[in-house]
Amino acid sequence: MCYKSKQLLIMPQVALKTLSVTQLDDLFTAQGWPRYRSRQVLDWIYRRGVTRFDDMTNLGRSERIRLADIAVITEPVVSEIQHDAEDGTEKLLFRLEDGETVESVLIPDEDRLTLCLSTQVGCTLDCTFCLTGTMGLKRNLKAHEIVDQVLGARAHAGPERPITNLVFMGMGEPLANLAAVCEAIERLTAPWGLGYSPRRITVSTSGLVPQMAQLGAFRHPVNLAVSLNATTDDVRDRVMGTINRKYPLTALLEACRAYPLPPRRRIFFEYVLLAGVNDPPADARRLVKLLHGIRCKINLIPFNPWPGAPFERPADATVAAFQAILLDAHFSAFVRKSKGRQILAACGQLRSAYQQGFIPLGS
Ligand code: SF4
Repeated sequence: MCYKSKQLLIMPQVALKTLSVTQLDDLFTAQGWPRYRSRQVLDWIYRRGVTRFDDMTNLGRSERIRLADIAVITEPVVSEIQHDAEDGTEKLLFRLEDGETVESVLIPDEDRLTLCLSTQVGCTLDCTFCLTGTMGLKRNLKAHEIVDQVLGARAHAGPERPITNLVFMGMGEPLANLAAVCEAIERLTAPWGLGYSPRRITVSTSGLVPQMAQLGAFRHPVNLAVSLNATTDDVRDRVMGTINRKYPLTALLEACRAYPLPPRRRIFFEYVLLAGVNDPPADARRLVKLLHGIRCKINLIPFNPWPGAPFERPADATVAAFQAILLDAHFSAFVRKSKGRQILAACGQLRSAYQQGFIPLGS
């Protein structure tokens, strides 16, 4: 048996996207190739979206043949797309290698196209306003499964609609899967990768205090969003019990005050308004006190009900009154329209709707 066939027998093909940059360098070094070759391959995969070694024209022929022997480039599989005709929001359902599914949402807005990314199949937490929270955690996504959502959405949107912003606000608590999120951000920001500025990337958390400090120390200064949703521990225990019992409001806001914000940046506070629960004027006034001294923007999001949800959407007048109190106190406060209401576009809603039979697959 020749050496090459023997090696093929003992060495299964490696999926290149699953390797870290260091592992890829090691693989190339083991083949006797210079380090810059691995950067060239990464550039083809991520920046140019090429999936066939044959198309990597700056590699030698023998290198392309050898790579095809030992490696594969897996492609993201979009198994379902839903489109909201009202506001242009699109929801993509990705099928993963083990058959699990996660979703990403493309949100057009004036001159921006934002992609909302998932980081876990399900979620460790149990926020009662969130359909993903009802699923429990199946597993964490790997870095390449996070980046594949961007590659799949980019291919779907096409060159005329470049994705301008990335938000880690889909299924899952990003900071509960911080290592994979940081590895994904490396690929999303690298010059050989997708080349995004960290300013265009926002990572959201429900309040994992120790990991907030770790994200703050990460070498790419991405934006931080905090899902707050209450102004007292009693109400936060009710809507985000697991996380708030571990890191109550005082600890969370201390972590926000300590967060190393780059100049001219702010923390985004997300506040889902739930009728009769956290939307009275007294809550708005408490919010003013809680956030005093924190450089921030506040996004008010009227609840987007899903089938069987335990909360209702507040009246527009209630939302306006809440916002007015924040504006009077000189906060930047915006009411975010729930995008994609026709397609259940809040996090986890498409996947859950499929699972629970509200939307038959293939509809
Ligand atoms: S809101 Fe986010 S953190 Fe809370 S259960 Fe849903 S996905 Fe998890």
